[in-house]
Amino acid sequence: MSDKMAQLTARCLCRAHTYTASVPASSLPLSVNSCHCNSCRHQLGALYASDVKWPNKDEDISSLERYSFTKNLDFFFCKTCGSNMFAKGTKPNSTPSVATGVLDNTPGLLRYDHHIFVGDTVDGGVSPWLRSHTDGAPAKRWLQGNWGPGPDEELAPDWPTEYTAPDIGAVAFPEFTPIRCHCRGVDLLLRSAVDMAGIPDAELPFHVEPKSLKYLSIMDACAHCRAWTGPDIMSWTFAKISYIHFPGSGADTKLPANTLPQDVAGLKEAVTRDDRDPRLGTLAMYKSSPDVERYYCSRCAASVFFAVASRPDIVDIAVGLLEHPSGARAEGLLVWNLGRMSWKWSPKGGWREDLANNVDELMEEWRIQHGYPKTTARINGERREKEKSEKEKENEEKEKEEKRKRETGKDEPSSLESAVANVSI
Ligand SMILES: [Zn+2]
Ligand SMILES: [Zn+2]
Ligand SMILES: [Zn+2]
Repeated sequence: MSDKMAQLTARCLCRAHTYTASVPASSLPLSVNSCHCNSCRHQLGALYASDVKWPNKDEDISSLERYSFTKNLDFFFCKTCGSNMFAKGTKPNSTPSVATGVLDNTPGLLRYDHHIFVGDTVDGGVSPWLRSHTDGAPAKRWLQGNWGPGPDEELAPDWPTEYTAPDIGAVAFPEFTPIRCHCRGVDLLLRSAVDMAGIPDAELPFHVEPKSLKYLSIMDACAHCRAWTGPDIMSWTFAKISYIHFPGSGADTKLPANTLPQDVAGLKEAVTRDDRDPRLGTLAMYKSSPDVERYYCSRCAASVFFAVASRPDIVDIAVGLLEHPSGARAEGLLVWNLGRMSWKWSPKGGWREDLANNVDELMEEWRIQHGYPKTTARINGERREKEKSEKEKENEEKEKEEKRKRETGKDEPSSLESAVANVSI
């Protein structure tokens, strides 16, 4: 019996590279392999990697840039935009895997059903928010890889039970947290905002939580970010560029030297000039739209920063690159905007729409269960939305009223005419 075929299309952000292959429609949804290991997080800048087997074993991906991830595995990315596209074993006849984020948003395409190396995250990373597939079926989480000869440990739904989250309201720590890609070509330090302690709450920048002074962090379903970073949902935090430092030199390399350029324009200039500061390492820039610049590692392709002209002194930082002592979610330094998926509308109409909604709901459920308060950014956002919808309602009422008036005005002569007519009859 013949089976209908479904097409997979993989495209990098700049669209210089497009690959297509077919699978039997009956094999959908394909099972996604989600990896939360330290290496993947640092190679992508995201908090997990997600891939599926590419149906064409012999696909020619040689025009992509290769990064030797381990002696057994290579990664392949677009040299122009830095999109992570494929992984492939170094043994002959290995089948490539494709990063799910570069695949089209075809309805019913993929299914998140298992997560590996969750143990590396210490705090669970984003795995509690990806705990089930969109149809509600639980996704399995494994301490390690669930492969090889030895037994692996399947994690309980409430894992990690032994993890103690840093006090929610406690002040951000430590003062400096490394921002490091897998190949270490990008090696910087993020300074906490504790020196903003004297600033009144209402005057703090949007990305600094009052009292704890932790940085706001988001889960992001934007189509451009997923095509660029690799997984379907990216994690970002925000900081002023002046809070990002070069590591010092000498005996204690943790001590910071001076900072990166102070604003988005300066950063772009510093990275693109010929005689650039060698401490910028492998940091490269791709301009993805007239007002957006995306910074990544030119050697291992890790996403690093996202800069937009409307926020001239702030960048988004790829959370997967942070090396924080409390775990992958870096809860000692970051506050997560739980229950508020950013760019939630972006995956509308495809399989990711359900994923984004599902993660959003699980984040909120998890927030309530663990007693985390809503972030100030969320409270402010909800207030703005309420004001907006009240304003919209008010305008609607006004419009209706005006329409009524217009229509009544128009009706007057005709009702008069009909009245006259009635009299005539
Ligand atoms: Zn590209
Ligand atoms: Zn991994
Ligand atoms: Zn790198």
